[in-house]
Amino acid sequence: MLVGVAGSVTPAYAGGGAPTPGSAGLGDRLYPLLGNGGYDVQNYDLSLNYPAKDPKQTITGDVTITAVATQSLSRFDLDFGGGSAGTVSVNGHPAAVSRSGDELIITPQHYLAKGKRFWVTVSGFTATPIEPNADSPVGFVTTPDGTVLAGQPNSSHLLFPSNDHPRDMATYTITLTAPVGWTGTANGRHIGDRVRGDRISSVYRESKPMASELVQVAVGDFVVQTRPAVNGVPIRDVVPRRLAGTLLPKAEAERSQLTWMTGKVGPYPFENYGSLVIDASLGFALETQTLSLYDTGLFGAPAFILNPIMTHELAHQWFGDSVAPWQWSDVWQNEGHATWYELLYADETGVFQQYTGFANREAYFKRVYSFGDQWRARYGPVAHPLSSASVWDVFNPNVYDGGALALYALQQKIGTSKFQQLERAWVSRYRGESASTDDFIALASKVSGHDLRSFLVAWLYGSTTPPMPGHPDWTVSPVPASATARTAAADEAVTGWRPGLVPAGH
Ligand SMILES: [Zn+2]
Repeated sequence: MLVGVAGSVTPAYAGGGAPTPGSAGLGDRLYPLLGNGGYDVQNYDLSLNYPAKDPKQTITGDVTITAVATQSLSRFDLDFGGGSAGTVSVNGHPAAVSRSGDELIITPQHYLAKGKRFWVTVSGFTATPIEPNADSPVGFVTTPDGTVLAGQPNSSHLLFPSNDHPRDMATYTITLTAPVGWTGTANGRHIGDRVRGDRISSVYRESKPMASELVQVAVGDFVVQTRPAVNGVPIRDVVPRRLAGTLLPKAEAERSQLTWMTGKVGPYPFENYGSLVIDASLGFALETQTLSLYDTGLFGAPAFILNPIMTHELAHQWFGDSVAPWQWSDVWQNEGHATWYELLYADETGVFQQYTGFANREAYFKRVYSFGDQWRARYGPVAHPLSSASVWDVFNPNVYDGGALALYALQQKIGTSKFQQLERAWVSRYRGESASTDDFIALASKVSGHDLRSFLVAWLYGSTTPPMPGHPDWTVSPVPASATARTAAADEAVTGWRPGLVPAGH
């Protein structure tokens, strides 16, 4: 890779102004310190070292991040919340480092000129996995068989230094080194293995842009099962060796789901796909790029539950992974669309009634519609979650079912044909990029040939639920006057109405 070395003795500051510190965050409303300002990452070369066959062990790592300065930088931050930060160099020269919370503040010997490429290496950082906890995002997590990463939305930097925000997508080379007998897998294509003594290094390459929150590194006593490609997309699954006989047959459904999903929105955006199942109770599934993460709790559920949720995570590969949110307030784009295809799949495979307790999608959305105002009062409008105090305040019911309901309203408004055209245009136009709710509104207007701004702004940002096109009889339940009653009503509207509901998670 071509790397420009900054640092002339006489500062020229040509075009970039005097060097200033990069900001500690990207300005995300919900996670102000996530990501950092002043540079744009192109590639991560991440190496992780697992000393023993111990799922609870502290691991060490090195990462080289290649980036382009977007301002003249006197210093810049990385996000890191692991253990020791090790040593840092910039363009090969030792750099000064200090820490403040989850910010790694790096001062290079020479300023970094705007527009120039630079590289930063963090060597010998450490991270220790934690037990899974269904009440919170878990980050770098231990299981009986090894460790995995569940980084969404703000935990990948607990494992490795990064610009941990989906606005800054990059390619990755990931090298996992462990004792022979353990298996390391990661996102993307398996480049190869190398054995030295009693250690094995496995190298993976994710050549498509990926958000840090979607990185997956699974290392332990796992087996990798390859399956026949689907429309040219190689398939591989990763499961605990001792559970392979039970879990692998269930994962096979992903092949027909991939055919189904490709038929809906067009070509799969990545080089391969598959499922990773861990023996844990996460309480959610997660769309880590090219390798969706599930737990044995979900894989123990009947097929009429498991298969729609697997399709939800598969749909995320287009909606959320390939097209990433510009900011976390846009997460309805991920979850609304994934829920949309989860429900459509359940409908078209004949399990809708069993899965949801409703006869069809129209009946389902009519009920969701009735909760509209309560959810907006409790969690905020669809594209404007009120709080990030808990991850479930951001990943809230009004983002999942409320997001899908907004899409239903849009389909009612512009018709099924234009809606399908829009869905395909969205994943094609913004493939490999971060896109905002504004971008979605603009594309919807363009594809439909109608100015949909006020219509979609009302659905996505309004504090009350707009009328449903084509269903003037649909009504919204009132929001109780007292705050306590409001919370109780919204909670009841989440838990009390959908018999088949299991936490679909992220
Ligand atoms: Zn999801």
